[in-house]
Amino acid sequence: MKKVVKFGGSSLASASQIRKAADIVRADESRLYVVPSAPGKRTASDEKVTDMLYQCYEAASSGKEYQKILERIRARYNGIITELGLDLSLEEEFKALEENFTGKKGRDYAASRGEYLNGIIIAKYLGFTFLDAAEVIFFDEDGKFLSEKTNDVLSARLEKMERVVIPGFYGSNPDGSIRTFSRGGSDITGSIVARAVHADLYENWTDVSGFLVTDPRIVKNPEPIETITYRELRELSYMGASVLHEDAIFPVRKEGIPINIRNTNRPEDPGTMIVESTCRKPRYTITGIAGKKGFCAITIEKAMMNAEVGFGRKVLDVFERYGISFEHIPSGIDTMTIFVHQSEFVDYEQSVIAGIHRAVQPDTVLLESDLALIAVVGRGMKATRGTAGRIFSALAHARVNVRMIDQGSSELNIIIGVDNVDFEKAIQAIYDIFITAEEK
Ligand code: ASP
Repeated sequence: MKKVVKFGGSSLASASQIRKAADIVRADESRLYVVPSAPGKRTASDEKVTDMLYQCYEAASSGKEYQKILERIRARYNGIITELGLDLSLEEEFKALEENFTGKKGRDYAASRGEYLNGIIIAKYLGFTFLDAAEVIFFDEDGKFLSEKTNDVLSARLEKMERVVIPGFYGSNPDGSIRTFSRGGSDITGSIVARAVHADLYENWTDVSGFLVTDPRIVKNPEPIETITYRELRELSYMGASVLHEDAIFPVRKEGIPINIRNTNRPEDPGTMIVESTCRKPRYTITGIAGKKGFCAITIEKAMMNAEVGFGRKVLDVFERYGISFEHIPSGIDTMTIFVHQSEFVDYEQSVIAGIHRAVQPDTVLLESDLALIAVVGRGMKATRGTAGRIFSALAHARVNVRMIDQGSSELNIIIGVDNVDFEKAIQAIYDIFITAEEK
């Protein structure tokens, strides 16, 4: 049995958190590969080391005063080293870091030092070998992650190694310089390592006991999700459920390795299992509810639109020209509505309307703003009758006006458009009809 364990920033924010993480690693012989984040926040008002590094680099690379913040970063690490009682000095590392900051080695280099230095400390504390991610994780000239090259090199390197710490979040460009993934990217590193070693399980340790059915800021004490499929998770995280980086499922998915989200502060909780597929019947008809505010709908009307070949392409071409991606396109016989992110659209609205007129000569173009989209996701919906009916009657009871409906043909999700102001009310109503009412 082989497990890869990734610890998030809050799980490694202080010496006492690192002790908890180390206890978790030591409690199970099969936890052989450890992927750490940089130290995160110790309290709600604390700073993440990654953010401090960005700030410090900004100042140092533009000739401004940077010593104070550098000192705070150094103190953060030295505090951890002292409290853990380690015989370790990072002075040489900090010397190199300062030179590279003033020498403008790049923002990504700067940010990556958070994981790099934390990795050195954790490897020392655990008695594991440290492996610099820059040697084994690769990007191309355009910043695209090279999954196959990385997998080949990393597999070969790790084949001969056991008990290794590989810092999360970064790798290297073809010229050897450092590149990071997007924020929260240590989750991706953990997944890459799990794939490379053919792990049985990728454990992702964080500060919550897995995914919840919906956002606890909207619904009080929502139920935890025991098991979720990769596809369900993809739908939910795209719509805003954030626990795991949305790209973190791709590497493990290639090998069908499950991910277990666990809580470092409550290691006894089973957390959420993320799997390829499962025979386990979901506890409720739906697995999760997520959503986002801030969409615009552009409705185009033209008599006989449906007979015009190429109509949709010409319309979408206008959006493409302005770099606007679309979310959903519900359509009728003579109408087509395009949902877009309001923030991407506002600056170009008049140009887009004019472009549509030129491209397809519509009868009218109508704009509506401040809409929210809610995704109700669940593998259980396929086998259950009346799911859509229940959603809409719950929304009607809650006096929420439904502005759009879109059911994916996979029957994995139903997307509902409502006014921004109805967003929270709609989520609560859907939660109640499926979870509160079905609670066993
Ligand atoms: N430390 C990085 C961040 O704050 C990456 C990570 O924690 O996954 O985004």
